[in-house]
Amino acid sequence: MPAAKPITIVGGGLAGLTLGIGLRQRGVPVTVHEAGRYPRHRVCGEFISGRGQDSLTRLGLREWLARSGAVSARTAAFFTATQSSAPRPLPSPAICLSRFALDVALANKLRAIGGELLEGERVAAESIGEGLVRATGRRPPAETGGSRWFGLKIHARNVALAADLEMHVSADGYVGLCQINGGEVNVCGLFRKRAGNPGDAPNGRGLLLGQPGSPLRERLAGAAFDEDSFCAVAGLSLRPERAAARSELCVGDAITMIPPVTGNGMSMAFESAELAVAPLAAWSRGETGWREARRKIARDCDAAFARRLAWAKWLQRLVLTPALQNPLAALAARSDWFWRLAFERTR
Ligand SMILES: Cc1cc2nc3c(=O)[nH]c(=O)nc-3n(C[C@H](O)[C@H](O)[C@H](O)COP(=O)(O)OP(=O)(O)OC[C@H]3O[C@@H](n4cnc5c(N)ncnc54)[C@H](O)[C@@H]3O)c2cc1C
Repeated sequence: MPAAKPITIVGGGLAGLTLGIGLRQRGVPVTVHEAGRYPRHRVCGEFISGRGQDSLTRLGLREWLARSGAVSARTAAFFTATQSSAPRPLPSPAICLSRFALDVALANKLRAIGGELLEGERVAAESIGEGLVRATGRRPPAETGGSRWFGLKIHARNVALAADLEMHVSADGYVGLCQINGGEVNVCGLFRKRAGNPGDAPNGRGLLLGQPGSPLRERLAGAAFDEDSFCAVAGLSLRPERAAARSELCVGDAITMIPPVTGNGMSMAFESAELAVAPLAAWSRGETGWREARRKIARDCDAAFARRLAWAKWLQRLVLTPALQNPLAALAARSDWFWRLAFERTR
């Protein structure tokens, strides 16, 4: 029998590591190149929700993450500067784990099952061809007009939440608070920088604290922040893209980034990695061509994600339109319908 052909994955984030683990489980030789080093903090709501949880279970990683301290989120509440909803049960529970712990847990797992993981190795962007998978995360926006988005996050202690996940919206973005491992709360926000307004740039952690008098400011009044966990990311593109439109084999955010308000980006990273495992293992065994494998993975990813991406685009618009925020808070306070619709259609 011919030797299995090796696969190289560029990017050791969630999609790249999960794909590497899935391929190793099928005996495929794998090398992952990661530009950074583990452990590291990443801008992320750290709220894993949706079908990606099933991908983790099927890949045998759910228990592994539970051992890394993952906690369960079962309730959510919605806040504006002046209104709040009572905690509502989430239609299905989420798993919450810091990226500091999550990425290193997956990296350790990959190494434990024989994957080669090279840290501090940035691969030239143009060199993604046969045998290489792009898992390099978000891409910069194609156009420069309109709003630009940036994200901030920091961990805190001494924060008592009303629900496992709290969403605090304001005119120019939102902040999510969620209970994570180690008794900490993740404070993560997405903000809009309007084009042509240079004064409206990321001003560090201050934006995460909310306006004076807001429920968010009140919630974080006694917080003890872990300054080492603070991180920021700019140049986010939230325009949905199709995997089939990519000429390279991509997984995770390298295909497209779902608006973070859905809390589904990590799930899509896990799901796309799982969808890529069987076709890539078949290529490695010489049973299919690279082009065929790439097309199948792209088709399956588009079929899995197209509907939720479309709903996510509208949810993001709705939640971030200032005139609609108080009516939405009132709706969220009154019925489970809004939660269920927003939650189920975006995952
Ligand atoms: C503000 C904000 C909040 C979010 N909140 C949530 C949430 O609550 N729940 C959720 O599910 N998702 C959330 N997300 C989305 C989630 O973080 C991403 O969808 C997820 O990280 C995608 O995983 P990935 O592996 O595709 O990319 P990444 O995790 O970004 O990993 C890509 C990796 O590739 C490496 N890399 C890049 N270029 C190269 C190169 N040339 N060579 C080698 N390595 C390279 C990078 O160093 C990085 O480690 C949020 C995102 C933002 C911005």
